[in-house]
Amino acid sequence: MNLSSFAYGKWISPETQGTAIKDASTGEVLATVSSDGLDFKAMLEFGREHGGPALQQMTFHERALLLKELALYLSKFKDELYDISYQTGATKADTWIDVDGGIQTFFVYSSKGRRELPNQPWYVDGDVEQLSRNGSFIGQHIMVPRRGVALHIDAYNFPVWGMMEKLAPTLLAGMPAIVKPASSTAQLTEQAVKRMIESGILPEGALQLISGRTGDLFDHLTCQDIVTFTGSAATAHYLQNHPAIIKNAVPFVAECDSLNCSILGPDAVEGSEEFDLFVKEVAREVTTKAGQKCTAIRRSIVPRGQVEAVKKALVDRLKKVTVGDPRAEGVRMGPLASLAQRQEVVERVAELSKEAEIVLDGTKPFDVVGAHFDSGAFVGPTVLCCDQPLQSGLIHEVEAFGPVTTLMPYDSLDEAIELANKGEGSLVASLFTFDPEVVFKVTMGVGAYHGRLVVLDRTSAGESTGHGSPLPHMKHGGPGRAGGGEEQGGIRAVKHYLQRVAIQGSPDVLTTVTNRWAGGTANTMDAHPFRKSFDEIKIGDALYTKPRVVTLEDVEHFANFTGDTFYAHMDEEAATANPIFGGRVAHGYLLLSFAAGLFVDPAPGPVLANVGLENLRFTKPVYPGDTMYVRLVCMQRTARENEDFGEVRWDVTVTNQDDEECANYELLTHNTRVQ
Ligand code: NDP
Repeated sequence: MNLSSFAYGKWISPETQGTAIKDASTGEVLATVSSDGLDFKAMLEFGREHGGPALQQMTFHERALLLKELALYLSKFKDELYDISYQTGATKADTWIDVDGGIQTFFVYSSKGRRELPNQPWYVDGDVEQLSRNGSFIGQHIMVPRRGVALHIDAYNFPVWGMMEKLAPTLLAGMPAIVKPASSTAQLTEQAVKRMIESGILPEGALQLISGRTGDLFDHLTCQDIVTFTGSAATAHYLQNHPAIIKNAVPFVAECDSLNCSILGPDAVEGSEEFDLFVKEVAREVTTKAGQKCTAIRRSIVPRGQVEAVKKALVDRLKKVTVGDPRAEGVRMGPLASLAQRQEVVERVAELSKEAEIVLDGTKPFDVVGAHFDSGAFVGPTVLCCDQPLQSGLIHEVEAFGPVTTLMPYDSLDEAIELANKGEGSLVASLFTFDPEVVFKVTMGVGAYHGRLVVLDRTSAGESTGHGSPLPHMKHGGPGRAGGGEEQGGIRAVKHYLQRVAIQGSPDVLTTVTNRWAGGTANTMDAHPFRKSFDEIKIGDALYTKPRVVTLEDVEHFANFTGDTFYAHMDEEAATANPIFGGRVAHGYLLLSFAAGLFVDPAPGPVLANVGLENLRFTKPVYPGDTMYVRLVCMQRTARENEDFGEVRWDVTVTNQDDEECANYELLTHNTRVQ
């Protein structure tokens, strides 16, 4: 069977036989993979001309709902995805990370998209910048969807999650994607894509699939496209230097080999909870997905005095791990994804052994459960120990992408930090300690070389997601050897697929562009704003209230009523000595209350609730005898797709009799959508 590609709206099977995909445990040929005959230029054009426009006209909330629908749809087919996943050597627990982790990533991005992004197609980035003295010329950054296609080149180790963690922010941003999975496990990605396409949830052209190689696709990339890549540093460098990438400044987000480490703190001696947690975590990282994780702990950095104890505890634990065909009963660790990958790991361990003693050797033939060692890509847990890690190089450079870790002793915390950073940039480091000083020192010491730092101790371990789990909420990616890219990290990742543009002009121009009132024209509303439903209120609609004089009696009454008898309000002499006030002033909270008294219309109506104030500033004191006025302007309207009310953000400005601003804040109300 030849795997199919999904290009320009149809499934295409190559006529020629491609590279064989084999079952990782039995060696049986399952399918072949080839992209022969695909028109890659046409694929890019199809994405740009169909998928892009369809997604770009949707709002972030509409796109977020697509993700949720897709996640719900895929959830129905988990069993079939699990069955295919076992062919790749993944156990049930490994597959949970891949399949359920991928689906969960869609759910998280869907939820974040609807909570943290506006219900419009573009994103307003940061605050208005004042570029002129009188405010008639201002600036604002906005971010709009790029008009190209996102090419996702994925690694073989997480055929579902690896695709979905990139797809979620891409689709949410409004960009179409072409997914190119690694060939050796492409059958699982193909099935997941088949399900997503058949669901009919995505607009045409939003998702295409290349089963096989990318042909001449790179030649046709333009400045609007983006490439994200996960795999080896060598391939990343090769692709990153493609002439079209350089000429068109195509963003290239890379996530590559990484010599991640875990540090056992000096306080975490044998018998402490942190010691046990460390051993457990290293063993887990060695065996999960047979160590084929970009985040796995390749270097275990421990105090010299603890090396023997760690070695014994770790090896004892790893010897108990049952290795075999993931479909067989009791198997806790499966084979690597392919025989080629096993050969690669065996060679890398041999290289590492030039500098480190092999303490537990999983590269030699051994009995496996449910399969024959020779037919599958089996490697057992492997532990090395390097006595002089600071004087060594290979152990910090060579990634054995399998169930392999190297123990490295340190003599001082500074040395531990130096060792961690010798990875020259990693995705993640973890630290096991219960000493706050160690936490601070290590964080400052290793932060610049790592994308993520997990600090684990007795208080957090129970609920922790562990060293190796990239989460949709947190950045995944690291500097240097790790590729320099960033994925996930919540809404940060969505911004990779948006183009930031600085808009400069009058406040009215910016209001038009951003759909957010930028301080220009404020038109008095034809009815009180509290009588208007969400759908009737327009950006820039304003209410100017009647004046109110603030008296000394008001201030004293408020002070006694609330208990806020602060001297600036109640003690004439002390208030006069205050260099800011020079006399008694009204409470800021009194002004807010009076402001509400001025702008509220009391009868039941479309305003359901006041849900908050943001960006409150008291800019000038109000003295007894001053007169206050309030202006309320509709700044922004945000409605979720599936709710029958919307949030209105009002700019509220309190001024005095000299038209000087005394307070400014943003008031949030929930208003019904239909009256
Ligand atoms: P590769 O870099 O060879 O492959 C990664 C992806 O790039 C695959 O989809 C591959 O497709 C594709 N690719 C390779 N060459 C090209 C090309 N010329 N044009 C377009 N696409 C290309 O990595 P491997 O999967 O072989 O893994 C090798 C090593 O990479 C591992 O041993 C490990 O050290 C590291 N790795 C790191 C990962 C991480 O997450 N940081 C994940 C996986 C691997 P195809 O499969 O069709 O060749």
